[in-house]
Amino acid sequence: AAEQRQKQHTLNDVLEKACKAYQKHLKASPRAISYFKGRGLSGTVAKQFGLGYAPEGWRSLASVFPNYDDPLLVESGLVILNEEDGGEAKRYDRFRDRVMFPIRNIKGECIGFGGRVLGDDKPKYLNSPETPVFSKGRELYGLFEARAALREHGYALVTEGYMDVVALAQLGFPNAVATLGTACTPEHVHKLFRFTESVVFSFDGDSAGRRAARKALDAALPLATDVRSVKFLFLPPEHDPDSFIRAHGKEAFARYVSEAVPLSRFLLDAARDGCDLHTAEGRSHLSSNAKPLWELLPAGALKQQLLSEIADLVQLSSRELTEVWYPTQAKPK
Ligand code: ATP
Ligand code: MN
Ligand code: MN
Ligand code: MN
Repeated sequence: AAEQRQKQHTLNDVLEKACKAYQKHLKASPRAISYFKGRGLSGTVAKQFGLGYAPEGWRSLASVFPNYDDPLLVESGLVILNEEDGGEAKRYDRFRDRVMFPIRNIKGECIGFGGRVLGDDKPKYLNSPETPVFSKGRELYGLFEARAALREHGYALVTEGYMDVVALAQLGFPNAVATLGTACTPEHVHKLFRFTESVVFSFDGDSAGRRAARKALDAALPLATDVRSVKFLFLPPEHDPDSFIRAHGKEAFARYVSEAVPLSRFLLDAARDGCDLHTAEGRSHLSSNAKPLWELLPAGALKQQLLSEIADLVQLSSRELTEVWYPTQAKPK
């Protein structure tokens, strides 16, 4: 364990050193600076998030890591080792000609990066791989930067993207974080609830964003206790939080936040989707859709409330509904 701690320490050192190098390269790259400026970012917010630039060239990092063959560089995810080439190991920088978003842990240490192309090349974003210090399913981009604001504002905004977090922070919502190009996991939600009692999911308005919201519902349900609040904000289809707040301003976004849909309503809407409640078939379909979602809720008042709301929708009593759901456990009187 001591050895592993030592190793994490050195991985952190490597990542921290690269982070500084990328920041230095940004200062020296008018192209990267004008990319960020073109997207409306201020120098202040760029500095706050430690944004940088990974230059073109296969081994730019060699200038800060003279021992480019150090296995730690590969382990940190900064360098890719390709051994297929006729047995001779080839090493090269993972991030080349990309603007860089350092991902920090809650202590503020750099644990990985997201890098975006400056144009329309694919893939648009490249993230650090899973390493001993970085796990996508656990870390949230911007959590370190947002930690004080989470307490102040009393809630967290959970977005999909790096740019969403940085733009929201600049334009008056420093309480935003992002999942790292993956579905929101129960671990993400659990982590957030260590800092706030209230979470508002604010994904892109497109179909991918709606699918992400549906996954976030699954992740949040087991943690939706009676004292916690979970809400979902749905932007117009053509927008994500970044583009929306830049197009419509802070007040308009605040309105969307205040009109965010509570978890209970999102659950009911999800279960009801495609069901014709005028027919017995539609109502029973709703009840079977609702069951697996309802089961994820922890015992408590919210769970009881939802049971009676679902029962109302399918025109049964709460008792009848649980007998439908759990026939073997229902005891006939
Ligand atoms: P931008 O505004 O810079 O064009 P975005 O954040 O709006 O980007 P989306 O396409 O909405 O980009 O994707 C949301 C998030 O998903 C990104 O911020 C990134 O974290 C992740 N992501 C997107 N594309 C990829 C990819 N090809 N590989 C890995 N992660 C990706
Ligand atoms: Mn999207
Ligand atoms: Mn965007
Ligand atoms: Mn987006």
